This record gives sequence, structure tokens and C-alpha cells, in this order.
Amino acid sequence: MSIDGATGKDGSILDRIQPHLRAMPGYMPVEPPEFLAERLGVPIESIIKLDANENPYGPSERVLEAIRNFKGCQIYPDPEQRRLRAALSAYTGFPPGWLLAGAGTDELIDLLVRMFVPPGEAIVNFPPTFGMYAFSADLENARLIEIPRRADFTLDLEQIARRGAEASLIFAVSPNNPTGTPLSRKELDCLLGFGCPVVVDEAYAEFSGSSYIDLVREEPNLIVLRTLSKWAGLAGLRVGFMVAAPGIIEVAFKCKQPYSVNVVAEAAAIAAIADRKNQLETVDALVRERERLRAKLEAIPSLEVAPSLANFLLCEVKGIEAIDVHGELRSHGIMVRHYDTPLLQNHIRITVGKPHETDAVVAALAEILPALSAPPRLPSR
Ligand code: PMP
Repeated sequence: MSIDGATGKDGSILDRIQPHLRAMPGYMPVEPPEFLAERLGVPIESIIKLDANENPYGPSERVLEAIRNFKGCQIYPDPEQRRLRAALSAYTGFPPGWLLAGAGTDELIDLLVRMFVPPGEAIVNFPPTFGMYAFSADLENARLIEIPRRADFTLDLEQIARRGAEASLIFAVSPNNPTGTPLSRKELDCLLGFGCPVVVDEAYAEFSGSSYIDLVREEPNLIVLRTLSKWAGLAGLRVGFMVAAPGIIEVAFKCKQPYSVNVVAEAAAIAAIADRKNQLETVDALVRERERLRAKLEAIPSLEVAPSLANFLLCEVKGIEAIDVHGELRSHGIMVRHYDTPLLQNHIRITVGKPHETDAVVAALAEILPALSAPPRLPSR
């Protein structure tokens, strides 16, 4: 839009945008790999993408077939998600009335904030954690109370006891992104004790092998979020779901965009659940690979690797700028995530990939790190 186009009768039309939206920092997304490939002048296939916790194996052959053979793009999706919820019911063991799907867990995080948090009321989360909770708090004009984790990334129950009662909604994650830390039962019980809705985001539950989903039947204020982005390799199609008491699901259906899960995504999700035995083999492979990657990273003296039950490993970089490691890896065509915030200084997070990707990132680090840690050379005369 031209500058003129942004000027209304009484001043800039931009001034009419709600102030909290103009002020919000926005979500920091990762860059699509084709742009790095273009910059480096290499084919996209040679880029090693370990920056967004995706499943490098992608969906199974049967799911790809369901996508290829799909007919019906001209028809709107079923707003009641009957077939999809029947599939999710088979996956979770919950009746469809306890389930609702969204365009990724991201949509459901925002939906829950709109449902439970009046403007100005508080969301509690536990950084370092997934950025979408803070993003939705900003978007919905909620107050964000951030209770930092302890040094070992477990929850600080003393601080939580002090401030938890202010929450209209609590976001916990198990295992947490980017630290890989599971939420203990003791921590969860403490959060549930406040009586407000507690969301446990289990995006990586299939990798950790444990879940609080069954507790939703007993705890009316527990809501569990799951996704097909990770185990099912469908991040690009955007399907997540929530498990909650039927009364919550009923209102959530009224509030959500009716057609947000598109028909192809729905068909792919149904096929992935039907083929889950095959698809979950990629999870087993990635869990094994996580341990192989961990052993190799732990052998590198300038990296300190945090324990992780997810499909990524968080590493503190010692004695070298993590941003330089991130940049050098990029110039080798390897994408990882960099963090440098007050609560997570000088870290990188590496998603677990295929074995050849582990070998490539480890070889690149072996080349890069000694060069970066070498004392700066004096200019020659
Ligand atoms: N929750 C957590 C903890 C995540 O790390 C992510 C993705 N990075 C998501 C939710 C988003 O999942 P989805 O693709 O289903 O929106």
C-alpha cells in the first residue's frame, strides 16, 4: 500500500490499528530452506534443515497416496470434523466429543487464549519455552506472567506458588521446547491446584513415550494439545488437536474458524492415523538417532548438551559465540536454531535428522569450532 493509501481523513489509518497490535514484536519464524539454497547457489536437496523440529522422513507412502488421490478440493471441509474426529478417537481412545482439531496446535493455542483469558487478564508460562504462548498473549491483549525455569529447566514451584493464582490460563509443555524437559507429575499437580485451565502442550509426546492425555478424564481443568506435525511428518499441512472435557470442546467449536483444517490436511491426517504403525517407526528411528547425535555432541568440549526427550537437542556453546556457530553452519548449508536471550544465553538447538544429517552436522562442527575458538590472528605487517 502507498503512504497515501495509509492516510485517512483525520490522520494515518495506521493509527486506527489497536495499539497492542502495533506494539507487539510478532512471532520469529524460521526461514524457508529454498532461500538459503538460493543464497549459497546449491540445490535445495543439499540443505540440511535441523531448525524447526520437523520429521525429516515426512509422511508415509500411504499418506502420500491419500494426498495424491484426494478428490474434493471444491467442497468446504466438514465443520464438525466427523471423519477426522473418528480417526483421532481411534488414535487417542477418547470419544469424539472430547476432541477438536485445528490448523496446527498454533490455532488451538490462540483459540484457548480467546476462550479463557479476558483482555488484561494473565497467562502464565515458563520460559525458556515455545514462543507461541507469548505471541497469542500479545495478540489477544492478555498479560503475560513469565515464571523462569530453574537452571535444570524444571519448573520453579516456589515462584509458581507465589504467582500462579493470578493466572486465567497456564501453558505447560511436555517435553518442553526448546529444552526437551518433561513436565513431572508433581509439577502438573501443582499447576492443576490453581483451578484455572492448564494446557499441557504435548507436541513431542510421541518422542518422549509418555503423555498426560488419560488424566483429562479425571481433571476437568486439564487440556492436552497434540499435533500431527512431528510424529506424522505433516507440519506443512497444519493439523493439531485438543483433548478436553466435552463442555470445553462444545464452546471451542462455536469459537473456532469453521473451515480452518483444509480438506487435504484432513485426508492426510486420517491416512496417517490409519497407517500409524508404519509412521511411528520414524519416531523410533529418530529417538535412536537422538541418542547417537547426543553421544557425538557430548564428545565436543565446547558444547554442553541438555537432556532431552524430544526430537531435538539443546546445546550451550562454551567459549565461542553461538551466533557464529549458527552462521558457519548456515554457510555449510546446515540450518539450526540459535538462542541468545537472558534465560538462554549462547545456545543452539539441533533437530534430530536422518543419520547422514547427524554425520554432516557433526563433521561441520568439527571443522567450524576449532577455527572459531582459535585466538584472533594479529594483522600481518
Ligand atoms: N507446541 C510446541 C511445543 C511446539 O514446539 C510446536 C512447533 N514448533 C508447536 C506446538 C506447533 O505445532 P503445530 O505445527 O501443530 O502448530
